[in-house]
Amino acid sequence: MIVTRKIEFDMGHRVPNHKSKCRNPHGHRYVAEVGVDDKVINEKGASDEGMVIDFSDLKEIMMNKIDGVCDHAFMMSRDDIDMISCFFHSENDISTLDLIDEEIKQYGYAHAFGAQKNSDKNWKTIIVPFIPTAENIAWWIYVRMEHALKEKDIKLKYVRIWETPNCSAIYSGEDKKIITTLGGGVSLA
Ligand SMILES: [Zn+2]
Repeated sequence: MIVTRKIEFDMGHRVPNHKSKCRNPHGHRYVAEVGVDDKVINEKGASDEGMVIDFSDLKEIMMNKIDGVCDHAFMMSRDDIDMISCFFHSENDISTLDLIDEEIKQYGYAHAFGAQKNSDKNWKTIIVPFIPTAENIAWWIYVRMEHALKEKDIKLKYVRIWETPNCSAIYSGEDKKIITTLGGGVSLA
């Protein structure tokens, strides 16, 4: 049985090499839809009897793993030096990129608050080891959700990211090669 849940969040991004308007820093009202595929719980008298997962439990994980990191943030590629230099100290400053790389290695993304030009403001940025297209964001969220659901012994089926009401990307764990080539072995907490 597959059950699904959606949440919405606002996030800025840009696609640095895009031939047209997606090169510009801009934002979307994203929709993240998560589908889980597991058995219906039959434990008599349990709070979640007759459910695959309590929708509120799924929402809590999504708020933690998606909304908490992404909502009202600006997402940029680690290789988008033009964008990084808007928020962070000089792009030639090795220690800034070292800090970003270190956080990416540890968490799968970087905030690098300490390296921001206006570190007292703590602007919410996310630096990721990929170009932040809907496809890559769907993959990245899939990996984060899969990790969290595994702890509850629930199987993730897919993650669908709607960038606009008409455009979405679905990732369901196929072609795992993407995971090992993007960012050179990202580990996600
Ligand atoms: Zn966009």
